[in-house]
Amino acid sequence: MTLEAVPAGALMVLRAAALFDGVSSTLMAEPSVVIADGVITAVHGPAGPLPAAAHVVDLPGFTLMPGLVDTHVHLCFDATGDPVGHLAETDDGVLREQMAEAARRALRAGVTTVRDLGDRGYLALDLRDHGPAGGADPLPAIVAAGPPITTPGGHCHFLGGAASGEAGLRAAVRERAERGVDVIKVMASGGNITPGSLAHEPQLSAGSLRVIVDEAHRHGLPVTAHAHSARSIADAVAARVDGIEHATFITAEGVDAPEALIRDIAARRIAVGWTVGRDPGQLQTVPPQIASRMAALITNRRRLYESGAVLVPGSDAGVTPAKPHDVLPYAPEELAAAGLGPAEILQAMTSRAAQACGLGRRKGRIAPGFDADIIAVDGNPIDDLAAIRKLRAVYIAGRPVLPAPGGPDGSKER
Ligand SMILES: [Zn+2]
Repeated sequence: MTLEAVPAGALMVLRAAALFDGVSSTLMAEPSVVIADGVITAVHGPAGPLPAAAHVVDLPGFTLMPGLVDTHVHLCFDATGDPVGHLAETDDGVLREQMAEAARRALRAGVTTVRDLGDRGYLALDLRDHGPAGGADPLPAIVAAGPPITTPGGHCHFLGGAASGEAGLRAAVRERAERGVDVIKVMASGGNITPGSLAHEPQLSAGSLRVIVDEAHRHGLPVTAHAHSARSIADAVAARVDGIEHATFITAEGVDAPEALIRDIAARRIAVGWTVGRDPGQLQTVPPQIASRMAALITNRRRLYESGAVLVPGSDAGVTPAKPHDVLPYAPEELAAAGLGPAEILQAMTSRAAQACGLGRRKGRIAPGFDADIIAVDGNPIDDLAAIRKLRAVYIAGRPVLPAPGGPDGSKER
């Protein structure tokens, strides 16, 4: 395998044993993918025409697929046992570098697009627009929300997004629109990593959520709501949010997902951001309020899936040691437990996730006109989902990136 870069303006052709295009249910055999200036210009099957003077990269035995899309990360959280404490001790200059490294770690695991749903100081937007410092390795494509809107003292208030009152909430949305965010993130319920915040309790009222959604939509911005409690999920649905993150339906005692609410989420085509992907070596660090409810959570995921809801995987990378920034490739088995078939899982992690991020025309597919964000894995990922952790090559906009040795499993799968 070669990792040499192709000179600007030159055509590149990737050839491999098979290809998953992001939307099909089967693989194409012996594909060749033609790339010019970082964009896919053609996809051919066996014996397709090779353009003259192209730089041909052969990846024999491997399967090409679109780079993975993680719809929910926090580049500013360091995936230690105390991400909030570490953040408080880190100034913006250092934090920006740490965030760039977190993004590169995702990219080396084959995640070519990340949606950051909560930063401090709009640093994820700065990385999105200005990239890494001088000549450093490339980053994945970044979609960013800026600091999430929350209540004073509420979940993730330390990121700087607290606001209150109708005028304050509208101003918070306007500030984000002026900064150029891609999406508004709002903390409808409490969360697990904020002391004094309870995930099973709402923190923003239905009325406040309506104000935020109204102002965001006036600016042409989608809204996705962090919502654990069933009450908050219902309020967010009623407020016409575009997405719901976590959607765990947890109560003080357990989990309660009303059938009518599940039907409503499906009928309104709200993107349900499922929090999936856990480092198998760190399962003891999953928050106890989630771990103790896991069986019921999986049951409700099945109900959501069977209802036809729009489901998109996101890792919440950074929030706990079980969530390092390259954890997304561990998501498939959790999605399978919720009932998704192998092809559906791959579609959810590529084209459908890209759509949820507002990038459905540029990312998540291997097709003419799409960015050449492509990974090569060892094996058939439809027959064996673990193949996405046997990563052998990563391209971002046609530029090769060295994958982590052996993929995220490191030597374990070598
Ligand atoms: Zn999050």
